[in-house]
Amino acid sequence: MKDRVIVLGSVNTDLVVKVRRLPRPGETVIGGTFYQNQGGKGANQAVAAARSGEKPVTLIAAVGNDVFGRESLAALQRDRIDLTHVKVKHSISSGVALIMVDEGGENAIAVASGANTALSPADVNEVPDSVFESAAVLLACFEIPVETVRAGMRRARQFGVTTILNPAPVPEELPADLFSDVDIMTPNEHEIARLLHLPQIEDEAGVRDAATRLLDRGVRNVVLTLGARGCFFAGAEGTGFLPAFPVKAVDTTGAGDAFNGALAAALSEGRAWGDSLRWASAAAAISVTRAGAQPSMPFRREIEDFLK
Ligand code: ATP
Repeated sequence: MKDRVIVLGSVNTDLVVKVRRLPRPGETVIGGTFYQNQGGKGANQAVAAARSGEKPVTLIAAVGNDVFGRESLAALQRDRIDLTHVKVKHSISSGVALIMVDEGGENAIAVASGANTALSPADVNEVPDSVFESAAVLLACFEIPVETVRAGMRRARQFGVTTILNPAPVPEELPADLFSDVDIMTPNEHEIARLLHLPQIEDEAGVRDAATRLLDRGVRNVVLTLGARGCFFAGAEGTGFLPAFPVKAVDTTGAGDAFNGALAAALSEGRAWGDSLRWASAAAAISVTRAGAQPSMPFRREIEDFLK
């Protein structure tokens, strides 16, 4: 069967302290509350794919040999994600984000990408052929080295696997030949502007123009996500706007990850393009009604009920 989803991406732990106000350099602010969240776009997307889909999900990623990595993997295991090809790197820490948030929601974040930066093209090439042979879709993001993403896309292509690239965060430099290995690119408005060195997109004409420019680079389909406005899709599978489902948003963190993971899962089940986009947008809509990123990823049953 060719129905597996491969997610190639990052694993991080968010260490969050909520404080009255953000400390200035050299200052200590006490009295905060602490909590820890599992994160990383790769991990979030794998969870979204596993919960929303019914096909196996394999994560290709890297963590350090430390408590954060072990806890991240334990959480992913609870969602029945295949972690056989997650590398444990011994000389570098797991990816960690130190986040301070004040009462007004203002934040200051420092990220140590750690093991994510050590995930190499060789790590991708070591994954046995059988994994790619049994895969329908590979979904990648950019919290890992560009060369590693390129190796994943290339390998997926060799095995006839549909490739989805969520170009977040946009790297400084992108190899021009990467675009032609991408079946579906899923930037948001800021990412597409950065990718194409365009000013911020202002209106519908700007959306259409940016998508066309990305298609001209060799990508087969573009799905430009537009937050509460939904998404614009263009390319070989068709062109149009899909409005978002109207919901009361509580926390939009991870909406893009929910969308991408659910899109990968839907396509791996052989759903048609329009149905897959609707499924992804329903998953993302549910996720914004809940707090957090990874915990907010909806289960299959919830999406089915939502779409009834
Ligand atoms: P994030 O960085 O917060 O994970 P993103 O910027 O990558 O998200 P968005 O474009 O904000 O991605 O959202 C992705 C999809 O999620 C949208 O195309 C839409 O379908 C859905 N979505 C986002 N915000 C809302 C909302 N307020 N109501 C309903 N659906 C939403």
